[in-house]
Amino acid sequence: MWEPSVVVIAILLGRSTSAVQTMASRKGLPRRDIEPETHRRRWTEQENAEYDAEKRRLRREDGRTPLVELAHALRKSLDTVAIHFLQEVGTTENFLRHAWLPEPPRLDEGRQSRRLECAPVDRRKTPMIRKCLSCEKGFWSEGAHIRRCPNCKAEDEGF
Ligand SMILES: [Zn+2]
Repeated sequence: MWEPSVVVIAILLGRSTSAVQTMASRKGLPRRDIEPETHRRRWTEQENAEYDAEKRRLRREDGRTPLVELAHALRKSLDTVAIHFLQEVGTTENFLRHAWLPEPPRLDEGRQSRRLECAPVDRRKTPMIRKCLSCEKGFWSEGAHIRRCPNCKAEDEGF
């Protein structure tokens, strides 16, 4: 069973999280917010070490990382782990190539994109993947004013 994750669905659909949330509410699904805090701060050294160790332990024979199992092992939400994984691999293409997810949600592509086009979207306020101005890697940005990834930001602040 896989926990519904706004972030993972957004990446699979190539949409912003707010578009996914709009879509969910139109289908009468309960609103799910991305777990606050955990993805906004830089992970501690211990968290990174646990992530690396569990990732190595769980890696499949095809080289892919099972994100749901990884999130369970780390006792973190799938959203948080997916965002961390995305930051690590840099782009959504790499994410889709290296992540493994059981039973992806069935997508009714045509209908969904027609609906999404009707949704008013302010891209500046939309949480989405943006390119870091410093290291140029893709990272999870909550709005257009956040232009640098947590790693570069933490380095600047002298941590
Ligand atoms: Zn950066």
